[in-house]
Amino acid sequence: MSADSSQDHDNTVIASTDGASFAETALKLGGKSAEEARRTGAIDQADDQVEAMFQPQYQTVNSPVHRAVWERGVPIDLFGSAPDDPPEHVRQIMDRSIDVARRHSQSGTLMNQDQKISDRVLSDLADAGYWGLLVDEKYGGAGAPFRSFAPFLTRMAMVDPTIAGLASVHGCIGAVDPVRTFGNEEQKQRFLPGLASGEKLSAFALTEPCAGSDLTALRTCAVLDGDQYVVNGEKLFITNVVPGRTIGLVCLIDDVPSVLVCDLPAAEDEHFQLTNYGLWALKHTYNRGILFRDYRVPARNLLQPVRGNGLTIAYHGLNLGRVSLCANAAGTMRLMMASMIPWAKFRVTYGEPIATRELVRRRLARLAALVIGCDSLVAWCSGLIDQGFRGEMECIVAKIFGSEAQKEAAIELFMKTHGGRSFLHGHLFGDNVHEYLAPCIYEGEGEMLGMAFFKSLVKHHGTTYFEPIGKALAAAGIRVPNPLNPAHFWALKGVMAPYARWMLGHVLVPRTAPALPPMPDRLRQHAEFAARQLQNSPRQISGTMRKHQLKLADRQCRMSELSARLQQLVVILCTSLYATGQQDEVVQAAADILCQDLTRQLTGAPRTDRYYRDATRLGETIADGGFRSIAGLNPDEILMPY
Ligand SMILES: Cc1cc2nc3c(=O)[nH]c(=O)nc-3n(C[C@H](O)[C@H](O)[C@H](O)COP(=O)(O)OP(=O)(O)OC[C@H]3O[C@@H](n4cnc5c(N)ncnc54)[C@H](O)[C@@H]3O)c2cc1C
Repeated sequence: MSADSSQDHDNTVIASTDGASFAETALKLGGKSAEEARRTGAIDQADDQVEAMFQPQYQTVNSPVHRAVWERGVPIDLFGSAPDDPPEHVRQIMDRSIDVARRHSQSGTLMNQDQKISDRVLSDLADAGYWGLLVDEKYGGAGAPFRSFAPFLTRMAMVDPTIAGLASVHGCIGAVDPVRTFGNEEQKQRFLPGLASGEKLSAFALTEPCAGSDLTALRTCAVLDGDQYVVNGEKLFITNVVPGRTIGLVCLIDDVPSVLVCDLPAAEDEHFQLTNYGLWALKHTYNRGILFRDYRVPARNLLQPVRGNGLTIAYHGLNLGRVSLCANAAGTMRLMMASMIPWAKFRVTYGEPIATRELVRRRLARLAALVIGCDSLVAWCSGLIDQGFRGEMECIVAKIFGSEAQKEAAIELFMKTHGGRSFLHGHLFGDNVHEYLAPCIYEGEGEMLGMAFFKSLVKHHGTTYFEPIGKALAAAGIRVPNPLNPAHFWALKGVMAPYARWMLGHVLVPRTAPALPPMPDRLRQHAEFAARQLQNSPRQISGTMRKHQLKLADRQCRMSELSARLQQLVVILCTSLYATGQQDEVVQAAADILCQDLTRQLTGAPRTDRYYRDATRLGETIADGGFRSIAGLNPDEILMPY
């Protein structure tokens, strides 16, 4: 598992000398209110604490993305992914679980009367060992490597995306990851066997009516009374919450975000109530609010990370959840593809099936490209997690790409190809459109995460070079520095030197070419392009920091844009390397299309005729059954077949 659960290693967390985090210091120096600086600083410190759980070589400054940008030479070996080869006992659980889901899907017994995944399905999955995949064998689980678990969710999503999503809710953000990573031995022994067997399914209760993006606004609190905590407050949008299940509850204890593992009562009572509302997304699971009034939880259920607090625990699980979300998108988009092909062959306009038209073929090619992009990121990120990397930036790339890809696939490719029938009751698109869109919001809204990616990327550079400058400016009472002003020059001379040296080094020392493995030519060109651009990016990033200085936190649009560009380069690099290892021409062609699309987005170059030829040829191959990983998928019925 990713984190060092003994949590006893040295760490090299970056913190300002006065104990405040970099973000807090920067905001204060930038003139923000003490309240805003404190709140942002709290989030930044939680982030630092997660960082502290990882050995130095696996922390953010040594992560693949950070090194690719800031170090000389891209560490290509850290952008590849090994083929997934699950241990035999894990493979058997996975096969059995797929059989359960497929059997219920084919016999129409997946849902109960509320159109939620039925208890029978959940218990059959429990018998198959599904819920214990991520729990260590010692506690009754399978101890599946994450690099096996994540791509397996893609397989499961091809049968039923909701069931795949529930494995992530339970195993990543629910109670499994918090207990196995942060629980003490007694807590592990008490909770994990039930979580592994599926006797207790779990959820994670973080969001509140006033605290979604802003986790510093949490209000639910717990007060110690004897050997119990008494909880009061309200949660919102909690997936998989059902009486009798277990939740990881984030609440304030002595004003510090904390996690209590709560075995919920078997029925609602005056202390624990569920709030129901109509929700279009995740319609096949229970998603509700929770009201706690003097609700009692044993004090020994408090998870006590050696470093950090409840947000540390939340961030850890969310990281895994984000990769799982991308894996789910890869499966869901395959379902869209399987649905598009028969329809495109069936639907004749102007005397020809639409599958013969360039526009439709290009859509199939683009869909394949998005699928392969997700596969690449899932394989890459899950491998990094197993190696021990924190992988926060990398998992954010996977989450944003996966959710945006699924949104684009649904609206631009799937819906448009099915035309008016998309909106019929019973159509895969019409019935699921909210499922396709919601991942852009949950587990962190994409643009907010994009800014988090950027902040993680610049934190070390900012702390090393800009924070001392900011402090010197503040000490000298200078608001707008002018290097031609001797007084300003004098105040800054000591702190400017390291930055000047960095700049000089960056400009004078040539970049080294990436050490790429043998690759097909077109994929090699993409990898070289991405590596070159990543290596060229520090000047632009640092220039942006120099220009906006302590106001950078307010330049959200600029941060967001830079972040998106860097993420696109990461996707190009990963996808080209992943496809090289696949030995499948269709996969390689799809990867090539994705890389070409992303490159054009970055350079603004117009699409060439060769591109359109390649894309439409790929679409034709896919329409003829050439995308092997959707073989065997039963497409949904063609509605109004006339
Ligand atoms: C289907 C579904 C399932 C969910 N499941 C769970 C669950 O199991 N457990 C759980 O705890 N939560 C869950 N959530 C909650 C989800 O994580 C939150 O909805 C999400 O974090 C966003 O919070 P919010 O809705 O309160 O948005 P808000 O905080 O109200 O933000 C709305 C938007 O405003 C913008 N914004 C906010 N702050 C800023 C800023 N500082 N700068 C710029 N822009 C900003 C962003 O675009 C943001 O998306 C779920 C949500 C959904 C829809």
